[in-house]
Amino acid sequence: MNFIERLAPFAVQLGQASGVLPSLIIAQGVLESASGTSDLAVKANNLFGIKEGSGWTGAVYAKSTTEYRANGTPYQVKANFRKYPSYEGAVKDLCYKYTHGTGWESHNRYAAVLNQTDYKKAAHAVFAAGYATDPKYPEKLIAIIEQYNLAKYDKVKENANMVKVALDAGHGINTPGKRTPDGEREWSFNSKVIAAAIKYLKDYPNVEVLRLDDPTGKTDVPLATRTNKANKWKADILISMHHNANTGKWGSWTGTETYTYTGSWKNAERLAAIVQKKMVAVYGLRDRGLKKANFHMTRESAMPAILIEGGYMDSTIDIVKLRDDKILDAAGKAIAESVAEYFGLKKKPGATAAEPPEKEVDEMAQPLPNTQKADMKGLLAKAYKEKVFSEDHTSKVDTMTRGQALDLLISYVARTK
Ligand SMILES: [Zn+2]
Repeated sequence: MNFIERLAPFAVQLGQASGVLPSLIIAQGVLESASGTSDLAVKANNLFGIKEGSGWTGAVYAKSTTEYRANGTPYQVKANFRKYPSYEGAVKDLCYKYTHGTGWESHNRYAAVLNQTDYKKAAHAVFAAGYATDPKYPEKLIAIIEQYNLAKYDKVKENANMVKVALDAGHGINTPGKRTPDGEREWSFNSKVIAAAIKYLKDYPNVEVLRLDDPTGKTDVPLATRTNKANKWKADILISMHHNANTGKWGSWTGTETYTYTGSWKNAERLAAIVQKKMVAVYGLRDRGLKKANFHMTRESAMPAILIEGGYMDSTIDIVKLRDDKILDAAGKAIAESVAEYFGLKKKPGATAAEPPEKEVDEMAQPLPNTQKADMKGLLAKAYKEKVFSEDHTSKVDTMTRGQALDLLISYVARTK
């Protein structure tokens, strides 16, 4: 497998999830790692020269690089770079830089790189944001994209269509009968689960959600309206969330069950099996298993549809779980994870439940390296003596940041021109 074939799957998957053109990512990899042959690429899978940074907790690879003193003489410094188990980590970090910016600026300087459809514009946007200093950088990227026909990767559809998920919290707040013996409303329990499912589904790329009930609960949307809405929208699956009742008086019945429509519905049954297993784990109640019933929501929907009964509202055992918002949130998360498992979706990079984002180090806020202090003091003493600066800045050098040193250098150069 050549370098491009090896890098392309990550560029397509992570690029699409982040709004970065895969052709751009691959071209940057080709250019910056010499098609995977650079020392950093071979030893650390680091294709884009990303340094360790302060928030990095992964492995590092120390490498000597050449830096220059103020007088132009080169010297060697050891720098730590991020070391990845595969190319995936490098692509993830590059996408993170583009979607989140440098981390030390209030705005995202890479915003113009995102959601481009034209690789030429994307290449120029990367350069304009200050990613590279080589003025030929965009032209080099464009030449690589055209030489290897990388634009074809921009047209790959990860999922031929968006995954469309119709979600339904059963009933409305004021639906008669649908309440606990103490008067708590079934819709309120159902709605917390569905709201959490919607929240957690945002962690997955290419998922669209349509909520079929009234999210305020004020209206009990008629069942036919709910299924018509899902059918018209061409949902891929439908999940209806409920909590059960037996007699309406407190009792000791208990358990979680998931329904499909009577008859054989292979995909609905597969979805139900995934969901039921996760729901039983979340509620920690008796597994009442997969069931079949002639319910409107599963019968009148044109797509695989299931109906979940999380637990009994009139059970002294189950009500403890239903009154626990953490459990209802976890039930929503279980629905999102079930949808992901059913469709084979992977989380977006930087999704809420993923590992915390790595913080870019603010290079300019770092202290001036000791190796540059003597040169800087010499320069500032000279500038003061020559009256280029009216103030003697030499005493500040020991506590100076790189950014402050750079500001003084710029002023010096500008004034002595
Ligand atoms: Zn119900």
